[in-house]
Amino acid sequence: MTNSNPESQDTRTPSNFLRDIIAEDVRTKKYGDAQIQTRFPPEPNGYLHIGHAKAICIDFGLADEFGGKTNLRFDDTNPEKEEQEYVDSIMQDVRWLGFEWDHLCYASDYFGQLYEWALQLIKTGKAYVDDLSAEEIRQHRGTLTDPGKDSPYRTRSVEENLDLFVRMKQGEFPDGSRVLRAKIDMASPNINMRDPVMYRILHATHQRTGDEWCIYPMYDYAHGQSDSIERVTHSMCTLEFADHQPLYRWYIEQLGIFPSQQIEFDRLNITYTLLSKRKLLQFVQEKTVRGWDDPRMPTLSGFRRRGFTPEAIRAFCATIGASRTNGTTDIEMLEHFQRDDLNRRASRAMAVLRPLKLVIDNYPEGKVEFVEVANNPEDPSAGTRQVPFSGEIYVEQDDFRETPPPKYYRLSLGKEVRLRNAYFITAQRVVKNEGGNIVEVHCTYDPASRGGNSPDGRKVKSTIHWVSTSHALSAEIRLYDKLFTKADPGDVEEGESVLSNLNPNSLEILLGAKLEPSLANAKLDDRFQFERVGYFCLDPDSTAGSLVFNRTLPLKDSWARIEKRAGA
Ligand code: ATP
Ligand code: MG
Repeated sequence: MTNSNPESQDTRTPSNFLRDIIAEDVRTKKYGDAQIQTRFPPEPNGYLHIGHAKAICIDFGLADEFGGKTNLRFDDTNPEKEEQEYVDSIMQDVRWLGFEWDHLCYASDYFGQLYEWALQLIKTGKAYVDDLSAEEIRQHRGTLTDPGKDSPYRTRSVEENLDLFVRMKQGEFPDGSRVLRAKIDMASPNINMRDPVMYRILHATHQRTGDEWCIYPMYDYAHGQSDSIERVTHSMCTLEFADHQPLYRWYIEQLGIFPSQQIEFDRLNITYTLLSKRKLLQFVQEKTVRGWDDPRMPTLSGFRRRGFTPEAIRAFCATIGASRTNGTTDIEMLEHFQRDDLNRRASRAMAVLRPLKLVIDNYPEGKVEFVEVANNPEDPSAGTRQVPFSGEIYVEQDDFRETPPPKYYRLSLGKEVRLRNAYFITAQRVVKNEGGNIVEVHCTYDPASRGGNSPDGRKVKSTIHWVSTSHALSAEIRLYDKLFTKADPGDVEEGESVLSNLNPNSLEILLGAKLEPSLANAKLDDRFQFERVGYFCLDPDSTAGSLVFNRTLPLKDSWARIEKRAGA
């Protein structure tokens, strides 16, 4: 399903069944006078992506709506894949999106408690130490149609299990030699209930607990109890965990602890976009992109560097809401929210990406004028600025044609156009280099048309932007396009990987762009609309003498067209 029907995306009343459930629980006082408690539980094994933004908006956003609280909990049960760099980036990204957690928690904070609970389950005959290898356990598990087989170690005595588990913890056994398993039902139709592994032996240094532990709880053993310890009322997660819910409930019931309520919602999928930390990590490691924050990456740090704003991402998430079936959202919809936000807040500026020199032959030699320009026509409070104009300017190569095709209304020989906020000019002749390429266009201007209107009421069919050559700043401009050529990047021939769907033209670098001088003061958080060209922001690679700008998005809005078509 593609959410391209605008009716399903009514911005006034975004559908969200999670909100309805919480509202009902509040109304019926399901948790007494306790406040709503949620958590966002990332595994620190990569940077957050736009799918996580949806989960964050749900976890933090709904708790906020009901006056509740949200914990940020790192599910750090896998020391081999987790790193402090990821922890730091996740905290930065959650805050950037505009949310603040109540408690900062780590599953590793609960390792002691989880171990005690494991002992308790062993003592009540609900857990056993298994000596089968990982491969043998897999073979015993059965399939969707065949029941599993009991391990020969399933009938060990409580005493033996206790002894072995304590010795596992003390480091007596090598990695992978034994595991602790829950004793549930090897014939359960739900494979997650066929004696799942609770603990494995792993002599690995954990980024927080160091070498204190050499046994680590499995995610499925840690997750539900972590929720319970934090007295999470509504534990919201994506649909793939629905089959795990019975297991989480089983642990909670056996232990007699606080029953958190898990509710599953649809995972965000976006066309032309890959949302999997594992695959994104591969791109970073193989240098397919320049890093986690490459502006082509669907990570929050990538979107940030690209110039996306938290306001736009939150508005997008509010509108997509949550549902109980997975679908795919058009990338154009996210871009539409971003353009809408930037159109309101971005300062206008003139920048020529592919410059062509234009000389105004009848303009007084050496004269400089300053034209007053609105910083943002959408926001009068943004004020105005003075832009220098002179007899030698840059215009876009695209805005001049020596032999204009039909319906080409921009500049060509003998034709008159408006220079934005300045004068009417008429092209008179071109100067070419030895290779036959145009290097200069010579024009005349009408001094009476200052400000962009002719007193005799003469009309021109087009307005082009410009930058005075002697005042221009040079800059590097990075233009981004989709990272993949296919709407479903995972749609590949057998034996091929998503790499075969990479867009070879996802990054275009322009080195000689010319900018109006006010952009020398641009800051990283500033947002610009380069008139007629698109939305841009400064890249952190910039230095005082060498500016680099990223194109956030071009101006044209294809989502608006999709909506219009759907409405027509
Ligand atoms: P990935 O497959 O990209 O690694 P994950 O689900 O393993 O994602 P976690 O760090 O475990 O990543 O996720 C933290 C939370 O974010 C979980 O509650 C998960 O359900 C949610 N989440 C992850 N991806 C998405 C997505 N695409 N849409 C909505 N929520 C998501
Ligand atoms: Mg995960």
